[in-house]
Amino acid sequence: MADAPSAPTAPRPRSGVASAEWLAGGSGGADRLAQLLPAALRGMAAGTAERGGPVPAGGPAAVAAALARAQSSGLPRHGVGAEQALEELSALLAAGSADPADPACAAHLHCPPLAVSVAADVVASALNPSMDSWDQAPVASEIEREFTTGIARLCYPDAARPDAVITSGGTESNLLGLLLARESAVTRPVCGANSHHSVARAAWLLGLPAPVVVPCADDRMVPSALAEALAPLGAQAVVVATAGTTNTGRIDPLPEIAEICRRTGARLHVDAAYGGLALCSESLRSRVAGLELADSVALDLHKFGWQPVAAGVFAARAEADLEALTVRAEYLNADDDTEAGLPDLLGRSLRTSRRPDAFRMAVTLRALGTSGIGALVERCCANASGVHAMVEDHPALRSWGAPELSTVVFRPTVADELPGTAGDDLVAQVRRTLLEDGTAVIGRGALPTGPDGEAQLWLKLTLLHPHTKPADYRALLDAVAAVAADLRASVTRESPIAS
Ligand SMILES: *Cc1c(COP(=O)(O)O)cnc(C)c1O
Repeated sequence: MADAPSAPTAPRPRSGVASAEWLAGGSGGADRLAQLLPAALRGMAAGTAERGGPVPAGGPAAVAAALARAQSSGLPRHGVGAEQALEELSALLAAGSADPADPACAAHLHCPPLAVSVAADVVASALNPSMDSWDQAPVASEIEREFTTGIARLCYPDAARPDAVITSGGTESNLLGLLLARESAVTRPVCGANSHHSVARAAWLLGLPAPVVVPCADDRMVPSALAEALAPLGAQAVVVATAGTTNTGRIDPLPEIAEICRRTGARLHVDAAYGGLALCSESLRSRVAGLELADSVALDLHKFGWQPVAAGVFAARAEADLEALTVRAEYLNADDDTEAGLPDLLGRSLRTSRRPDAFRMAVTLRALGTSGIGALVERCCANASGVHAMVEDHPALRSWGAPELSTVVFRPTVADELPGTAGDDLVAQVRRTLLEDGTAVIGRGALPTGPDGEAQLWLKLTLLHPHTKPADYRALLDAVAAVAADLRASVTRESPIAS
C-alpha cells in the first residue's frame, strides 16, 4: 500500500490498525500525523469561524449547553474514531475558547502562541522525550541544556557560572526561589504588597512563615520601607521583588533593592515572570536593569516569549545553588551511570516525568533570535503607550498611569460618580458584560487609589498581541465606555438617589 500523505482526509487502515490506534512516532509517524492533522485543523478553523470573536457569547451556561449538544462530555463506552473525534472536539474547543490571538482578548498575561512554536510542539509531543533521564531524552536534554545556558547568560551576562532550569511557570519558579533560599538557611520571606500570590503560597508550601509585606507606592516596592523591614532580619531574609507586576506591569526599583539586600546580607529573588524577556530588547533592557544582581530570577516565556503554556524558566546566578535539587533514583540516575558519563537530569526539576518544553522555545529562538523576540516585546509596549494615550484623550475613561510594560489600567469616569462600593460594582459589571456578550475579555485589578488609600477596582488590558496597532483597541475602549454609560443610566433609573 502506498504511504504517501497525499490523500490526507481518507483514513486508511494500516496493517489492520484503526487510525485511532496509530502511533505518532516511529517509522511512518510523520506520515500518520499528516493524515490526522487536517481533521483537527478543519475543526479548529470551523470552530474559530463559528465563534467569530474573542470569546464565545453567552457565558458559562451557553458553553455548557454547546458541550451538552455535542454529547462530548464524560467517558464514552464506544469510540467514534480518530477523525471524527478530532474534528468535532477541535471545533468545539475553538468555538468555545477565549482566543488571545484576537486583539479583544486582552485580560491576562495569556499570550497568543507563535505558530512556529506550536508546530515544534507537535514533533516534541510525537517523540515524547521525557526529561527525567538521559535514556528517555538523549538530544532533547542537550537542547534543553543549551537553551537554559543561553537564558542564564541573558540574565547574568557577567556571572562566572550561572545556570537555569525549566519550570511550569512563575509559580514553580517562585517556589524554587524560596526553596533555594531556605536551603541556604534563610528563614523569612519578604515581598512587596504588589507581589504575586504564588510567593505567599510558596512560603506556605515550604513551611516558612508568611512573608513580611513591604508597602508599595505606584505599585512599586518602596525601598526605604524594605530597608526598615530588613533591619531586624538581615541575612535571615529572602526578598522577592517583582519585574512586571500582574496588576499594572510596574517594575520594582531593582538596583536600589539589590543594594539594600547586599548591605543587609539578605538574598534576592526577582519575579520577572512578566518583564524578564525585556532583556531581549536593546531599547527596553534598561527597564529591568538590576535583574543581574538577584540570586535568582523567574521568567515566563508563555507571556513575552509567545509560547504555549507551560514555558517557565528559573535562573540562578550561581550554578551551585541548584545542587539543592539533587536527588538519586536508582532507575533514573544511578551513580555508576552518572560516573560512566550519562548526564544526570533528575536534579534539574522538582518534577520527574517532564515535557521537552525547551524544544519549542529553542526552535522559536532559532527562528527569531533574541532580537526578534525583543522586537515583539517592543511592539506590545509601544501599543500600550499608544492605548494609554487614547485613554487619556477619551472623554469617558481615565488612566491609572503610564504603562511601564504592556499593561494599560483605566476606569470609566462614570464609576467615580457613584457612592461607596457602587463604582467598583459598575467596573466589575462592565467587565462581565463584555465577557458574557462575547465582545471582549478584559482584566481587572484592585489598586489603592481611593481617597483614603483604600482599594478601588480598575480595568486592565494586558497587551501581548504582537501584530496589532493602538487603533485596533479603539473600538474596545468605546465599548467599555458605552457599557459603563448604560450601566450608569440603569443605576440612576433604579435608585435615583444615587445620582
Ligand atoms: C504570571 C505570573 C506569575 C505566575 O506564573 P505562572 O506561569 O502562571 O505560574 C507569577 N508572578 C508574576 C509577576 C506573573 O506575572
